[in-house]
Amino acid sequence: MSKRSKPSSKSITTFAFVAVILLLIVIVTDIQGGKKAYGKSSSAMGASVFLTLCGGDEKVADAMIEAVKHLDSDCLSPTIQGSDVFNLNANSGQPLKVNAETADVLKKAVEISKKSDFTLNIALGQLIRLWGIDGDNPRVPSAEEIEAALNTADMSRIFIDGNTASIGAGQLIDLGAVGKGAACDIAAETAKRLGVKAASISVGGSVTFVGQKSVSGLKSLFGGSELLWSVGIRDPFGSVNDTFASVKVGPVSISTSGNYEKYFEENGVRYHHIFDPKTGYPSDSGLVSVTVFSDSGLLSDALSTVAFVLGYEKSLPILKEYSAEAVFVFPDKTVRVTDGIKESITITDSEFTLI
Ligand code: ADP
Ligand code: MG
Repeated sequence: MSKRSKPSSKSITTFAFVAVILLLIVIVTDIQGGKKAYGKSSSAMGASVFLTLCGGDEKVADAMIEAVKHLDSDCLSPTIQGSDVFNLNANSGQPLKVNAETADVLKKAVEISKKSDFTLNIALGQLIRLWGIDGDNPRVPSAEEIEAALNTADMSRIFIDGNTASIGAGQLIDLGAVGKGAACDIAAETAKRLGVKAASISVGGSVTFVGQKSVSGLKSLFGGSELLWSVGIRDPFGSVNDTFASVKVGPVSISTSGNYEKYFEENGVRYHHIFDPKTGYPSDSGLVSVTVFSDSGLLSDALSTVAFVLGYEKSLPILKEYSAEAVFVFPDKTVRVTDGIKESITITDSEFTLI
């Protein structure tokens, strides 16, 4: 466990919890004003949710979890009957009123899709269903099936006007690439609104740290002398609790995409759950995982998917455009990082090499 200590801080409370994708070691220093951190776990979006709050209590944690569950079951879930995405998919071709949160996520996802030249493509629902990697019977589809599914993935057929949305007839949308990050955002907003001084929120492979500047004096995501957290980045070759690096961060959002999360193997080939919309096959950009740091949960989640599909070189411009930073892991256990994170990362597993 890494620790950043302040000489003036007498009581340092350590609250550690394990996220499903990232192991987080949360060191909470004097900003708590002597109060113990409050932790709560739950599940939503097919993932575990972990909260740690400073200056909040069970009521706040419950409100945060309720907000995440609302975003899942009323808004973004493709499988829960009655959610906006479920309804849009079941009524493709027709305009429907959606929750404000759904419209907001759709608008942001469409913007990032355009900026990424549709590497992020939220209209891949038919392709995702075809491969079935999330389900019990995943399979490699035929080239014809893949082509037919890709023919439904034209994002110019998605419209959002205020709180009314529509998708093209026969199209299926899937917000799996941004949902967990958006869930971190909604939980973080709830925490701030209810006066929490600092918090960590994790939903699957996405994590958001909240710290109010007025309390902590935080200046930037990585720099400054008031850094609060040390985050372990999961070893993509190891098990859930193994990490290969630690990064000192301020109030930032972090998402990891990797080929180890959901996959099946056939004839020695691993087919994972992140697709290249240009080919209709799982992306093959030479990465094992990529972890993206940004000031928004949705953005870090979207960009981790985009960077995983594009690979190291090609994802640098879009990461720069959104002022995001990233840690890329390659099959030979070499690691590359963007410039803004170089000072903040420490490789903790000697089998990995930062190049
Ligand atoms: P996870 O959901 O495991 O955290 P990601 O954030 O990378 O991982 O999102 C992967 C999910 O996004 C897939 O399970 C699928 O639902 C969807 N998806 C896969 N490829 C794409 C893509 N190119 N664009 C948009 N969504 C995608
Ligand atoms: Mg993502």
